[in-house]
Amino acid sequence: MLAYTYVKQGCFQLTDKPKPTLEGPRDAIVRVTLSSICTSDLHIKHGSVPRAVPGITVGHEMVGVVEQVGEQVTGVRPGDRVAVNVETFCGECFFCRHGWVNNCTDPHGGWALGCRIDGGQAEYVRVPFADQGLTSIPDGVTDLQAMLVGDVLATGFWAARISEIRSEDTVLILGAGPTGLCTLQCVLLHGPRKVIACDIDPERLAFVRRHHPGVLTAGPEEVEALVRETSAHGGADVVLEVAGSPDTFRLAWQCARPNAVVTVVALYDGPQVLPLPEMYGKNLTFKTGGVDGCDCAEILSLIAKGKLDTTPLITHTYPLGRIQEAYDLFEHRRDGVIKVAITPET
Ligand SMILES: [Zn+2]
Ligand SMILES: [Zn+2]
Repeated sequence: MLAYTYVKQGCFQLTDKPKPTLEGPRDAIVRVTLSSICTSDLHIKHGSVPRAVPGITVGHEMVGVVEQVGEQVTGVRPGDRVAVNVETFCGECFFCRHGWVNNCTDPHGGWALGCRIDGGQAEYVRVPFADQGLTSIPDGVTDLQAMLVGDVLATGFWAARISEIRSEDTVLILGAGPTGLCTLQCVLLHGPRKVIACDIDPERLAFVRRHHPGVLTAGPEEVEALVRETSAHGGADVVLEVAGSPDTFRLAWQCARPNAVVTVVALYDGPQVLPLPEMYGKNLTFKTGGVDGCDCAEILSLIAKGKLDTTPLITHTYPLGRIQEAYDLFEHRRDGVIKVAITPET
């Protein structure tokens, strides 16, 4: 089968690999019907994910149809349409039992698919711990609607969930890329009084205004002033940093009011500075880290009810056989691309 492969730093290639087979009783084999490209894939390509293993098939955002299951899998059956979770987790360890599945202690736990084991930019993918890693897609939800559930949408949902958003709050979201836009939709589910989205790219801010007319937008230069004038207490009650640069990290804590929650969703390329003398007395609560992707069933039910819709984010479609072109478009942000769908055609 065709599989897009991390050959070495700077080089991904479409290669021919054997179709995956079950390796354990909790595995499933999924025929991929749609996959997507994530910024994390680019991080692997450029060598900033040291744990990524050369030779693996990349891709960790996908939906498909279950083809085969191991003898201990009970949650899904061959023929089921499923969303695949970016995270591999056992469901049984201390962290999994608390819902902190990103910290699953199983040796295969965490972000494994498309990083340490073969992922889904391919015709088929093996999913370990299939009862945790696969969620059935309800009838009436299309593959395209479900495509982002296991990764960027799960991330936005988790980030909004842990940010303690209340109805009187002003919420600032830094970054209106794919994850920022998913986070924005999930923040709106919590019904805060005011939401401000900030991005350096005017096109992305225009996208926000088009799809969410009630949301205020600002570039990084104006955002601090806008936050101050629209917040009741001199700064945002909640800040979600989804952009991932030193500048946006600084903006995140600067725009927050005292005692605010600052949720850092972004993945940085380097260490950031917490200037504690300047922050002293602000009493901020920082929440950080990788998604606990254990809400996929709830997310799919919100999609089924029409409360979440990420299809406008999927701006381009390419067949697997031309995935290199899709990467080129995505990486260089050409033609207003937000997310790309990859279909199985070779
Ligand atoms: Zn991702
Ligand atoms: Zn676990």
